[in-house]
Amino acid sequence: MDDVIAWTNRGPRLPESPICATCDSDLAEPYGWCAGCRAAYCLPCGRKHFCAPTCAANGCHVGLCVRLVEGGALSETWGLPDGE
Ligand SMILES: [Zn+2]
Ligand SMILES: [Zn+2]
Ligand SMILES: [Zn+2]
Repeated sequence: MDDVIAWTNRGPRLPESPICATCDSDLAEPYGWCAGCRAAYCLPCGRKHFCAPTCAANGCHVGLCVRLVEGGALSETWGLPDGE
């Protein structure tokens, strides 16, 4: 709960040393960030990430909640780019 103010005022607080929430690998930019789960994902895991059934009920598609983090900033584009 202590992150709520940062979340609303300044956007997500990105981790200093992100670790993929799926495969536990250390991440370097660019990596994926799920705003719904507030968790980091490597690109392969991010593309397969699906938050929860409630997310699907809201019209979410697989990987759609994950945005690319590059240069310390969160992409404004939802989803991760293809390739690599
Ligand atoms: Zn991963
Ligand atoms: Zn998620
Ligand atoms: Zn989602």
